[in-house]
Amino acid sequence: MLPNMNYHLSCHTVGPLQENCYLLADPDQGVAVLIDPGDEGPRLIKAVTGHGFTLAAIWLTHAHFDHVGAIADIKEVWDVPVYLHPADQPLLAHAAQAAARWEIAIRQPPTETLPLTPGQILTVGGLRVYCRYTPGHAPGHMAFHLSREELVIAGDVLFRGSIGRTDLPGGDQELLLTSIRQELLSLPDATQVWPGHGPATTIGAEKRSNPFLR
Ligand SMILES: [Zn+2]
Ligand SMILES: [Zn+2]
Repeated sequence: MLPNMNYHLSCHTVGPLQENCYLLADPDQGVAVLIDPGDEGPRLIKAVTGHGFTLAAIWLTHAHFDHVGAIADIKEVWDVPVYLHPADQPLLAHAAQAAARWEIAIRQPPTETLPLTPGQILTVGGLRVYCRYTPGHAPGHMAFHLSREELVIAGDVLFRGSIGRTDLPGGDQELLLTSIRQELLSLPDATQVWPGHGPATTIGAEKRSNPFLR
């Protein structure tokens, strides 16, 4: 957890693929969102209630099965909207099937979503979050950028020392590299990067040492 006067961000690593779900909240207003609730619904629900937050929405960076497996559990507690770029809607619709091919069981998420659009500004209480369209790993991939807080929740686009895989359906490595350069490496070096798997990093550190970005 990163305590701060103005925001709460905590990372909850869930499921067999060790996916990072993020709880982002405005603690002053007690309002929160869950980003990429991939598995272990009861644990994520406890993370929200344990802080005394009210859940306002679920945001998805993309709809690979390891990022959506807890939506059904969460929506039984709070019937909140799920935000997703429409290009990832087919992935969401077939999430349980895709998981089954990896011999992983998830509850099929409900498929109703609200559309995310490039450049859209979302809010959580007083926090403003800018949607950066970053296709390449998945066709509708979004990164969520908080400029004042200098952090980006990057999903499966950019990792510490690596980048997202592009061998899955809809993947495109050239497009991924363009997304990373235009939408992420253009941010200030101090910007924290919180990825969908593995540890956090910064834009500056990845510019200096990420072997995929040479
Ligand atoms: Zn993914
Ligand atoms: Zn993932």
